[in-house]
Amino acid sequence: MKVGRYILSIDQGTTSSRAVLFDSFGEIAGMGQREFTQYYPQPGYVEHDAAEIIETTLYAMRAAVNEAGISPDDIEAISITNQRETTVAWDADTGLPICNAIVWQCRRTSPECERLKAAGMGEYIKKTTGLVIDPYFSGTKMKWIMENVPKAKELARLGKLRFGTIDTWLIYTLTEGKAYVTDFSNASRTMLFDIHNLKWDKRLMEELLIPESALPEVSESSGIVGMCGNALFGREIPIAGVAGDQHAALFGQCCFERGMVKNTYGTGCFVLMNTGNKPAESSNGLLTTIGWMIDGKVSYVLEGSAFNAGSAIQWLRDELQIIESAQECDRLAETVEDSGGTAFVPAFTGLGAPYWDMYARGAFLGITRGTTKAHMCRAVLESIALESYDLFALMGKEAGIEIDELRVDGGASRSDFLMRYQSGLLNKKVCRPHCLETTALGSAMMAGLAVGIWENIDELKSIWRCDTEYLPDMLGENRDADIDRWHKAVEKSKAWA
Ligand code: ADP
Repeated sequence: MKVGRYILSIDQGTTSSRAVLFDSFGEIAGMGQREFTQYYPQPGYVEHDAAEIIETTLYAMRAAVNEAGISPDDIEAISITNQRETTVAWDADTGLPICNAIVWQCRRTSPECERLKAAGMGEYIKKTTGLVIDPYFSGTKMKWIMENVPKAKELARLGKLRFGTIDTWLIYTLTEGKAYVTDFSNASRTMLFDIHNLKWDKRLMEELLIPESALPEVSESSGIVGMCGNALFGREIPIAGVAGDQHAALFGQCCFERGMVKNTYGTGCFVLMNTGNKPAESSNGLLTTIGWMIDGKVSYVLEGSAFNAGSAIQWLRDELQIIESAQECDRLAETVEDSGGTAFVPAFTGLGAPYWDMYARGAFLGITRGTTKAHMCRAVLESIALESYDLFALMGKEAGIEIDELRVDGGASRSDFLMRYQSGLLNKKVCRPHCLETTALGSAMMAGLAVGIWENIDELKSIWRCDTEYLPDMLGENRDADIDRWHKAVEKSKAWA
C-alpha cells in the first residue's frame, strides 16, 4: 500500500455530479457535489446538457480537493463511475455535443423497441448482449439521434461523429480529445456489445444505423485510459479506473468472488451478483452483464432491480405526509410488533422482475379500523425487503448459486429496521460497510490497483470493513407467513392501470 497518496473518484450521477477523494486506507478525505438541470421536453423524455455535466463535474473535483486541503500533486490517479446508458453525441472536430444527452430514464425510443421486438430481435439481443429490449439502453438512443439530429448524419458520413456513454464523454473531455474509450461494464449496457466475444456487434450496429467510427475503443476497467490535461490541476493526472455505477458498487463492496452479492437501497433497489468468469443466463428478465474486466479476466454479473424502494419512504413523507423524515419511518416501525396484517406493494410504476407487469400499481391491503401509521411505516419498510427477497430468490435459482451473505449500501440501508428484517427474510447475514460511498470507492479501487496504490485484490479486501452486521433472528414460520402475505398482495396489485 502506498501511503500519503490519493485517488480522486468522479461519481457522475443522474441528478448530481460528485467527486470523492480517497486516501490509501479507503477513507474519505474530501467531497464535492453539484446538482444539474433535468430537462423534460415532452412527456416521457429526459435529457441532460452534456456541457453542464462537465462543468458540474469539474466543480465537484475542485471542491473535493479543496475540502481535503491537499495539493493536486498528491493525487495519484482519477477514477470515473457514472450513471449508466445515458448517451452523448459530439463532433470530433470541435469536441462539442450536437444535442442534449438522452438519459437512461427517457422512453422516447419505445416505438423503436417495439419494432425490434416485432422483428424478432429479442432472442438475438438477449443471447448477444445479455439484455432485454428496452429504451433504457443506449443503442436505440443512438439510433434516435442518427434519425432525428441532422448534424449526426452529416458527421457520420465524414467519420467525425462520436457517441459515448457518460464515462466516455468525461474521459474525452478531460483528456482534451486524446482518448476515445469506454470500459467493458459501460459497453455492456449499450445493447450493442457482444458480452461473449467482447466486441461491438456488427449486426446490431447495422440494425441501429451506428457506424463503427462512432463507437469508442473498449478498455479494461482498471488501467490507464488517458491523462487528464493539466488545465484542471496544473499537472497531468492518469485516469485509471472506469465502471458503471452499479458495477463499481459491487467492486467497492469487494464482491470479487463468484456468488457474492450486494444490494443498493436507493430510490430503487439494485441487486448484483458476481457469477464469475461465465455469464449466467436468465429466463425471467434478470440482466446478464459485465461487472468488470481486469488483467484480461472478465467477471460477469447477474442484475435485478426493483423500480421503487426508498421512493416509497419519500411517498410517506412527501405525499401522505405521515412522517417528517426517513428516520421517523424507522422509529415508528419499531413501535409495533408487526404490520398489523397490512401489506404494501410499492408498484408505483409497475412491477419488474420476476413479475414484469407494467400495469400493476401500488397497493395497501389488509387495512382495518385499527391500522395506524406505525403499521403503515412498517409495511412500507417490509415491502422493500420483500421485493429484494424476490430478486435474491430468483437470482439464486437462475445462477444456481447459494448466497452466503448480503452486502448493502445506498441511502435506505441506513434503516436498522429494514436491514434486520432483510436478514431475517433471507435467513442470511447482512453486512453494512463502514464506507457507504461504495460506488465511488469501487472505481477508486480499480484506479488504485492500476497505479500501484494497492498491490492486489487482497489489499483491497483489507480496506473494506463491515461496520454493522445483522444476523437473522426471525422464526421460520413468521418468515413463511410474511412471504406468503406479500405474494398474495402482489397478485392483487397486478393489472390495475
Ligand atoms: P439515489 O442514489 O437513488 O438517489 P440514495 O442512495 O441517495 O438514492 O438514497 C435515497 C433514499 O434513501 C431515499 O429514497 C430515502 O427515502 C432513503 N433514506 C435515506 N435515509 C434513510 C433512513 N435513515 N432510513 C430509511 N431510508 C432512508
